[in-house]
Amino acid sequence: MTASEMPRFSLHDRVAASRAQREVAHRRRQLRTVTQRDGMRCSVDGRELLNFCSNDYLGLSQHPRVVAALRDAAGAGAGATASHLVCGHDAQHAALETALADWLQCERALLFGSGYLANLAVLQALLGEGDACVQDKLNHASLIDAAKLAGCTLKRYPHGDADAAARQLAAHPDGAALLASDGVFSMDGDVAPLRELATVAREHGATLYIDDAHGVGVLGEAGRGSIAAAELSSHDVPLRLVTFGKALGSAGAALVGDADLIAHLAETARPHIYTTALPPAQAAATLAAVRVARCMEGDALRARLQANIVRFRAGAVARGLPLLPSDTAIQPLLVGGNADALKFSAALEACGYWVTAIRPPTVPEGSARLRIALSALHEAAQIDGLLEALQRVRDSAVQTPPTQTYLSSV
Ligand code: PMP
Repeated sequence: MTASEMPRFSLHDRVAASRAQREVAHRRRQLRTVTQRDGMRCSVDGRELLNFCSNDYLGLSQHPRVVAALRDAAGAGAGATASHLVCGHDAQHAALETALADWLQCERALLFGSGYLANLAVLQALLGEGDACVQDKLNHASLIDAAKLAGCTLKRYPHGDADAAARQLAAHPDGAALLASDGVFSMDGDVAPLRELATVAREHGATLYIDDAHGVGVLGEAGRGSIAAAELSSHDVPLRLVTFGKALGSAGAALVGDADLIAHLAETARPHIYTTALPPAQAAATLAAVRVARCMEGDALRARLQANIVRFRAGAVARGLPLLPSDTAIQPLLVGGNADALKFSAALEACGYWVTAIRPPTVPEGSARLRIALSALHEAAQIDGLLEALQRVRDSAVQTPPTQTYLSSV
């Protein structure tokens, strides 16, 4: 048989094999359909559940002023009709960029369709072969993908280890270097050692890039994020990512920081050039959310969120629940095995609580977890109810070994 007569490898065979592997490893993923949302209450596949896994930390996705801004601006049309540089850059986009730069005390902001795209943009536009990108091992997947797309050398240092980052930068003295870290780690909830990273970047001539998807709106004075909370400025962190789909309750993202770097991105970043601009109405809704987040109402929401975090952690400690060390709205409960995490999540759902199990490759092998996400909209009684349910499920698992050892790894 010649090469041309050999049957080509079938993609259907490949996906079937991959699916079978995921099945055995308890890594299958399934879409759930939300039919109604009312604050943290929602209907999922016909069941009423209390949501403890959304990123709506301040509850802004349904804030009356944010929804009204979306509705009002939608009168001008549903879409931007083109990419920013062709004819899609709307006054709503420009107003949002100006407001973000003002709020976050940076020179300039540039909008993107999503945080994922913005991360691709930074590395693709600024780095290439011969350059180094040094990253925390637990950074968001989009930063890892971005380094691969950029074709630079990717080095990943142990989580939160600024000294290891320094050693990796020292080992790559040639070419440009970007030191990239999440501000708040999305699956762990802890905050990067930002002051140490800023020092390392300065000492090694690297540019510090912080993905503050889970920090902006929630941390720091006026919700300016993890960089403000660490008392750093845009001088220390020339570029940062703000996403709109989390505390701001909307969708999309922006890069904010140094005007010169951002001007380069605006002209050369492929995820900016070759994609339709965000719907202007979405930008208007995000602008309304920024106005709420940075004012006294935002302060009040952050205070409620903080009270919920303190209540949840105190209750979890009192019940001996093994939380990861996090002071943010992201409160992960480590389970270990994938099957156990799925069972734990299903048992909570039976009690009326929605907490999705997070498994590899989103988190490292053997560290499947329940990522409990708190919001300013949760009421004290709802948090107490979740704590009781967590304890009940944990206790019933401990009493029926060895098949149900949900917390055996911690
Ligand atoms: N960075 C981090 C740390 C994230 O958690 C996420 C979203 N999960 C993103 C980037 C991507 O943002 P978006 O959802 O806007 O694409």
